[in-house]
Amino acid sequence: MLEIKDLHVNVDGKEILKGITLSVGTGEVHAIMGPNGSGKSTLSYVLSGREGYEITKGEILYKGKDLRAMEIEERAAAGLFLAFQYPIEIPGVTTMTFLKTALNAQRKARGEEELDAVKFLRLVREKAGPLNVSEDMLKRPLNVGFSGGEKKRAEILQMALLEPSLAVLDETDSGLDIDALKVVSDGVNALRSPDRSMIVITHYQRLLNHIVPDKVHVLSAGRIVRTGGKELAHELEETGYADIVEA
Ligand code: ADP
Ligand code: MG
Ligand code: MG
Repeated sequence: MLEIKDLHVNVDGKEILKGITLSVGTGEVHAIMGPNGSGKSTLSYVLSGREGYEITKGEILYKGKDLRAMEIEERAAAGLFLAFQYPIEIPGVTTMTFLKTALNAQRKARGEEELDAVKFLRLVREKAGPLNVSEDMLKRPLNVGFSGGEKKRAEILQMALLEPSLAVLDETDSGLDIDALKVVSDGVNALRSPDRSMIVITHYQRLLNHIVPDKVHVLSAGRIVRTGGKELAHELEETGYADIVEA
């Protein structure tokens, strides 16, 4: 699904990622952990194609294709989904309209028929229920005045609608209380599937009690310094990052 080889990335002329190699198989869930400032969000921005993130070396293959050569819309059409640490607020656009636009843009890019209002409403209600996304939330402008938990639930709803092949979730747990964490991780777990891969980026181990990863990678100063199974997250909870990061 995703093959990153010796990826080096500069931001404002400074090297932030210093040779990342990572392979995510179809159906796998990988966690990327690491201290603040280690480059976790930078990696997700690079995958999204955001401007200002300059790849100086290495390659990224998504479904066997050079990701760099793909436009942002092409990435979405090909099933790449990214949820960012700081979700954008869109005043004047209701959550419902935003979701409908995102889904229909994806369908259009795939040469599929757009959903009409009735079909979309039925679909969004079906997906919103289990995520505790209320009708009221759907009518409010996206993320404007949303609590941390509401933002994350809206994000997981978007993912549920788009049914991505590869979902990258950056610090989806930050600022969540335990109930919201449960709703979000149940939503993510419901989307686990043999043909869907996920990368869950988190500073803390606690999310990984709920979303159990196949592999855990520890990022430090722009490099992956350790890779292991789910037990690595528990080890980190006991020892913290200090030992690994110094090694
Ligand atoms: P994490 O998500 O792991 O906390 P980030 O990817 O946000 O880490 O940041 C990685 C490093 O890149 C940090 O040292 C940060 O200060 C630096 N950085 C991020 N954005 C910029 C920028 N626009 N200009 C210069 N340095 C940046
Ligand atoms: Mg950070
Ligand atoms: Mg970050």
